[in-house]
Amino acid sequence: MSNKKISDESVIDAARLLRKGAKMLSLYCPECNFPLFESEGKTFCPNCRREVIIEVGKEERAQKEEKEIVLESDTLESLEKAIVKVCELITSSNSAEEIKLLSESLEKIANAFEKLRK
Ligand SMILES: [Zn+2]
Repeated sequence: MSNKKISDESVIDAARLLRKGAKMLSLYCPECNFPLFESEGKTFCPNCRREVIIEVGKEERAQKEEKEIVLESDTLESLEKAIVKVCELITSSNSAEEIKLLSESLEKIANAFEKLRK
């Protein structure tokens, strides 16, 4: 189940979640590798649209896997950073026009990220 598609809608949802005060974690969904979010004490995947239970030992393993992925490709790492950055910008922006532009660029980055990850 690791070839699950990351949709544009998921990235937009993720951006919306960030705006609502959710936190992007340095962990990835075991199903689809989408970054996990934390809100109101719950960890969930916006792509699978379900809560993800992270066990203590599992969390360490997830971080290890993340490091391995980063080592594989610098491009992936920079794309990941770009996604986080755009999410941060959307969160801090008060302009509807700016948020629209940022959301569009987020979509593009996410598409590139998805292609590289396959
Ligand atoms: Zn997922």
